[in-house]
Amino acid sequence: MHLKSLTLKGFKSFASATTLRFEPGITCVVGPNGSGKSNVLDALRWVMGTQGAKDLRGGKMEDVIFAGTTGRAPLGRAEVTLTIDNADGALPIEYSEVSITRRMFRDGASEYEINGDRCRLMDVQELLSDSGIGREMHVIVGQGQLSAILESKPEERRAFIEEAAGVLKHRKRKEQTLRKLANMQGNLDRLGDLTTELR
Ligand code: ATP
Repeated sequence: MHLKSLTLKGFKSFASATTLRFEPGITCVVGPNGSGKSNVLDALRWVMGTQGAKDLRGGKMEDVIFAGTTGRAPLGRAEVTLTIDNADGALPIEYSEVSITRRMFRDGASEYEINGDRCRLMDVQELLSDSGIGREMHVIVGQGQLSAILESKPEERRAFIEEAAGVLKHRKRKEQTLRKLANMQGNLDRLGDLTTELR
């Protein structure tokens, strides 16, 4: 599995449709300060389902939509499509190439598509969750994040490693199950009380 291309349209500084093609191996994005290198990484995070505006270096989610320049009017929507080569079947879907699209309008409404079919955010997250990429997987290491990890407390560092190793999903499921067990115990206790009263 590797990322094949990323198309940005109306996303941050990319007003016109722009496609970046990636080959297997290492890709370097170079350019002057403020030319939009980090915006490309923000687009990757965004299309994979990021929900926090802060993760994208903005105040609110709509800040990802092209805000206009002196020569160009603001746009009404942002759209990013990520195409992934899935020839090795790493993503649990019957396609050798998978395209994920996210679209956002100025009223805050978001749309998601997998290979052109409308879907929910949850579908995108589930598709990516077992592949090691996607939200909270730490596949994108931002500026300053490395030193933050090195300077973190051992427990915090353990949480980073657990998330990267894919333990997070299982920890969340365990917490859910423990909550259900606690509810069930409460019900059993109430049932016990009722049985005692009826005796
Ligand atoms: P550096 O090398 O300094 O880190 P960079 O190449 O990573 O810079 P970015 O941070 O990706 O640059 O891009 C910053 C530019 O994107 C700024 O010029 C900013 O005005 C522009 N920008 C950010 N959001 C929007 C938006 N919503 N609409 C239009 N332009 C935007």
